[in-house]
Amino acid sequence: MKADFAERPKIDADSMPTRGTLEIKVAQSSSRAKGASERPIALAFHAERLHADHVWREVEKVAHRLVARDVRATFFVYPFPAAVAAVDIAPRVRWLGSLGHEIAQHTHFYAGRKIRKNEKVDDLSDTNIVHCLQRDFEAIRQSGYLPKGFTAGSWHVNDTVLSTLIGLGFDYDCSAQFLTPRAETHSPHQRRLGALQFFRTTSGQLLCLPTTCSLGQWFKSAARPMRKRHAYQLIYLHDYDLLNIIERSMLSVFLKITKRRMLVPSASIARSNLYSDRRAIWI
Ligand SMILES: [Zn+2]
Repeated sequence: MKADFAERPKIDADSMPTRGTLEIKVAQSSSRAKGASERPIALAFHAERLHADHVWREVEKVAHRLVARDVRATFFVYPFPAAVAAVDIAPRVRWLGSLGHEIAQHTHFYAGRKIRKNEKVDDLSDTNIVHCLQRDFEAIRQSGYLPKGFTAGSWHVNDTVLSTLIGLGFDYDCSAQFLTPRAETHSPHQRRLGALQFFRTTSGQLLCLPTTCSLGQWFKSAARPMRKRHAYQLIYLHDYDLLNIIERSMLSVFLKITKRRMLVPSASIARSNLYSDRRAIWI
């Protein structure tokens, strides 16, 4: 399948979409739309253990707390661990969605059903990538949501991942990470981008929206250059990180020092026309 990256896109935002939809179009003009001067921050949860009650209790509290602050986050749901544990998390996913949080997809490309820490093995064959993506997409769809955003487990992303996402109707992918001055050596299966890009095939296109860093990294100096140079930030943590009091404390501080109006689901950033100002996203 023919594919190419087109750099430096300009994006114009359409009106707020209904649940499960996201419309992005390339702007015809370079005019800066309202709000462009504000730099949004997306708070993303890689939700891998919603089936575990002790994790869910913390997720519930945080999801409520965010709504009380009029903040909506994105939950990149990895449904396969729940399937392996034979737990139906659809009611929990629907509850998160009912609060207005975005339901997106997170998938690890492990071989088979062995997903425990000491036994899991990556299988990055095209066949397994397509299988895992379709399997998890269908599980989330069964919950009542058509995910439009995606983040890969272990940041494993390649053309097969992106092409499959296009085929499934996704609009954006956060599996790449922003380049940083201190970017560590990473696997050939990971991608670092200096700016957002479009991935295009003959079937369609996907907006590649790089993830900025983890919540922990956000508090460290490594994240500072990104805060200054990029038009947005996409900060993530795992659902099970909420079991850790330090992570919970960091989240509390994060919510206090970020302005409420700046915190949006990642779908909102994908829609944003901030990128009409190209200079804002270059390193
Ligand atoms: Zn993960």
